[in-house]
Amino acid sequence: MYTVTNPATGELVEEIPNATDEEVDAAIARVHNAFPAWRRLPATDRAKIVLRAAELFAERADELAEIMTLEMGKRINEGRGEVGVVVDIFTYYGQHGPDLIADQPMTIRGGNAVIQKTPLGALLGVMPWNFPCYQVARFVAPNLVLGNTILLKHASICPRSARAIEQILHDAGVPEDVYVNTFASSRQVPAILADPRIQGVSLTGSEQAGISVAAEAGRNLKKAVLELGGSDPLIVLDTADMDETVARTATARMRNCGQSCNAPKRMIVLADIYDEFVDKLTKRVADYFKPGDPMDPDTKLPPLASIAARDEVAAQIAQAVDQGATLRTGGHPVDGPGAYLEATVLTDVTPEMNAYYEEIFGPVVLVFRAETEEQAIEIANDSPFGLGASVWGTDPERLRRVAEQIDAGMVYLNSAGGSQADLPFGGIKRSGMGRELGPAGIEEFMNQKSIRL
Ligand code: NDP
Repeated sequence: MYTVTNPATGELVEEIPNATDEEVDAAIARVHNAFPAWRRLPATDRAKIVLRAAELFAERADELAEIMTLEMGKRINEGRGEVGVVVDIFTYYGQHGPDLIADQPMTIRGGNAVIQKTPLGALLGVMPWNFPCYQVARFVAPNLVLGNTILLKHASICPRSARAIEQILHDAGVPEDVYVNTFASSRQVPAILADPRIQGVSLTGSEQAGISVAAEAGRNLKKAVLELGGSDPLIVLDTADMDETVARTATARMRNCGQSCNAPKRMIVLADIYDEFVDKLTKRVADYFKPGDPMDPDTKLPPLASIAARDEVAAQIAQAVDQGATLRTGGHPVDGPGAYLEATVLTDVTPEMNAYYEEIFGPVVLVFRAETEEQAIEIANDSPFGLGASVWGTDPERLRRVAEQIDAGMVYLNSAGGSQADLPFGGIKRSGMGRELGPAGIEEFMNQKSIRL
């Protein structure tokens, strides 16, 4: 069942039955049959449609933001901001996509060749609820320009976002069978992947979903791109302005109520500024991030996406405290019907505790003390994940030196948790495989065909 429940109130808003197997089969047939005509269109024509979609996303930003707030509790302003990033992604691939997929001539030993960049066919996208529009955009915009067709299975708590996105794409001129939303259940995903008409899959979500989708893709010899969890380190080496550093790092962590794969979940602070950082961070988190209605633009702490998500994070905090971590502030569900959890700071988390290696997908900061720069790097890399990271400080050379030693797919200097259309996004280790966005993002489901002239 696809279910809309308002996480701020607990109110059940809408239920939509899952697609039947016959409906899923018909949806696969549509995207498969639409591929030959779509790929034959000149890339510049497909790019024009993608640019038109960017305009429609911009026009409907308020409507999309309201849907996301209703479905998964995002603060309304963050929803508008998310749609802004979506507009940027569609614009980037609309403007640069045709150049990124242009034939690439090569001089080779004894002659010449050309690499032709062609689409693979119908793809499956399995998308999560945390950024209902952005996650879809990262996968869809490049693949539409390249000439692939798309069957999209969104998270089961986001059916209205799913429908609104499909409507925008069709209104922009994407043929109805080139982009098809399906309300398939996750149990139907293996059959979709086994279907010879589907050529590959992109999933953003939990490790568990990633393992299951990667296994099915492997069994069927299909390409998979996986954007999974993270427990990104944020290293603070020094600061010229502690208040500003604390305010900015706390905001980066609390963005989207802490439910971002690339949020700075582990802050690692050098010993000489650790105590001041922890005191100020604790105060900032306790005073500034107060729960409120996510539709109110002044709210700082919205609910989590669901009661289940909230309870899972609360249980992780309780376990950490049980195992000896220090709870500096927060830590408890907020009384009332919504999925609210107090903004939380934990310190003294050690490798013996589950929280040290787990991802905590909520408004929770872990702060670690490092005696030296080398120890900070060691702690940063002591994680099963390798999505993003950030390094903060005043000396650009030192920042760069530390950044180069971090095992992650992306490292930011003096900012955290970012994403931009022209910069590849993705991780290593248990954070997944493959890249989205930038030039790399359009190559994942591409046949780079060598033609020896
Ligand atoms: P899931 O990974 O379960 O959901 C993401 C998407 O995958 C949804 O469309 C979901 O469908 C689908 N899915 C789930 N299981 C399978 C499966 N076995 N086969 C195929 N598709 C599947 O996320 P949750 O909502 O359960 O979140 C749990 C955790 O996942 C979070 O705590 C966080 O750690 C991580 N997460 C990471 C995200 C990221 O941005 N990297 C985003 C969201 C979650 P359905 O909704 O129908 O179950």
